[in-house]
Order: sequence, then structure tokens, then C-alpha cells
Amino acid sequence: MARTALVTGGSRGIGAAISKALKEAGYQVAATYAGNDEKAKAFTDETGIKTYKWNVADYDESKAGIEQVESDLGPIDIVVANAGITRDAPFHKMKPEQWKEVVDTNLTGVFNTVHPVWPGMRERGFGRIIVISSINGQKGQFAQVNYAATKAGDLGIVKSLAQEGASKGITANAICPGYIATEMVMAVPEKVREAIIGQIPTGRLGEPEEIARCVTFLASDDSQFINGSTISANGGQFFV
Ligand code: NDP
Repeated sequence: MARTALVTGGSRGIGAAISKALKEAGYQVAATYAGNDEKAKAFTDETGIKTYKWNVADYDESKAGIEQVESDLGPIDIVVANAGITRDAPFHKMKPEQWKEVVDTNLTGVFNTVHPVWPGMRERGFGRIIVISSINGQKGQFAQVNYAATKAGDLGIVKSLAQEGASKGITANAICPGYIATEMVMAVPEKVREAIIGQIPTGRLGEPEEIARCVTFLASDDSQFINGSTISANGGQFFV
């Protein structure tokens, strides 16, 4: 039977490309979203991939949602923790709510997504945890103290899970995308976008599908010896 993959924030942007690529690779896919019902419905109509609505920042909602996915599709073998938000402001203007919302979604949301599936993966002796971090978690970014802190924290989660899961056939890896042509980036004024592109040696934004192909590889049996790694996919913009 085909393995089952859960992609949080899998209904649009990078997550949608990941969901589609995993489906094409033969996995059963469940894609989650937070509240944009219209986009989620259009995504299901286009792809046939089932969507589930819950807030990754809420542990009980995540656990219940994951139980529903497992009852519909079977045990989850692959988790792609992709859901993420920005609430940018220079530090002196950053409100505690902006800090909290981003931490709850981008950092605690990863805990809430992985923790409920972890015991089953340990029992079955197989699992793939793939966390979508960010270039800005590696290098920091003006007006993103909150976001950069969570994305750096995600790398700590992955490196620790890699050590705990290795003997049980579970790997945990992170992908740090650079600037990717999603709605979020395409919505910034053209002048700003051109300035961003000027900082990318490859001379263009990344495509969501380029991140999706990294995920498909990490999800596969071929990636078993890659554990605790961070794949930078940023067109040469930043090296660790
Ligand atoms: P989008 O804003 O296009 O999509 C975000 C997705 O996450 C949506 O499906 C959204 O649901 C969902 N989501 C947001 N908050 C929650 C929540 N609390 N609970 C459940 N689902 C939630 O994001 P991108 O595709 O641009 O980014 C995807 C990931 O990649 C993020 O983690 C981001 O930080 C990271 N990233 C993106 C880069 C880029 O250039 N775009 C660069 C580096 C990293 P809904 O549709 O209902 O709102």
C-alpha cells in the first residue's frame, strides 16, 4: 500500500507544489490549511488531494486532525511541516502579539504536527520528518526577529529529532528556501522584488516546484542516510 504523507499548509504556495509532487510520486497525500476555504476547495478540485482544516498552533486541534487523516488514509509515514506565517516589524516596533503568533505557528506548530505522529513512526520503524525552515532562519533578517528565531528553532528541532529517531528508521531534515515565487513574494512591489532578485546570484526567484523536488527526495527510501541535514535552496544567496 502507498505511504501516506501529511503536508501542513499544503493547499497553496510552496505547500501546494509539495502536495502535488508527492502525489505524483505515488504517495497518498493529506494537505492541511488554516482558514482559506476557497483556495483549499479549488486545490482539491484541481488535484483530487483531500484537504483538512486545523490550526497548527493548537495541539488538541492538530492531534484530532491527524487522527482523522490516519482514519481516512492510514498511518502517516511522512510529515512535511510547511505551514508558516510572517508578522514583520522592526524590533523596536514589534508587538508581543506579533512575536507570539509567529512562534505559535512556525515553531510550536512543528511540535504540534510531529509529536502526535512520532509514536506510530517509532512503532513501525519508518518515518520522514521534513521541516520547511528559511534562509532567514540561517542568516537573520531585518524586521524578522520573530520569524528568524522560529526558523532557526526549527533547525534545532530537526537536529534533535534526527538523533532520537535514527535507530527507529526515522529521519528528520530541514529545507531552507531562499526567495520563492509564491503569492507572498509576487505581491511585493516590482521594484522591491527586483532588488531582492539582485541579491540572488542565480538571477531569479526560486519556483515552488524546486522546493517540492527536494522534499520528494527526502521522503524517499533513497535518502535514508541523510539525517539532521539542512538543504539550502536559495540560488546561491547564502552559504552556511
Ligand atoms: P503561503 O502563505 O503561500 O501559504 C501558507 C500555507 O500555510 C497556507 O496553506 C495556509 O493556510 C497555511 N497556514 C498558515 N498558518 C497556518 C496555521 N496556523 N495552521 C495551519 N495552516 C496554516 O506560504 P509559502 O508557500 O510562501 O510558505 C510556505 C513555507 O515556506 C512557510 O513555512 C514559509 O515560512 C517558508 N518559506 C517561504 C519562502 C518564500 O519565499 N515564499 C522562503 C522561505 C521559507 P490558508 O491558505 O488557510 O491561509
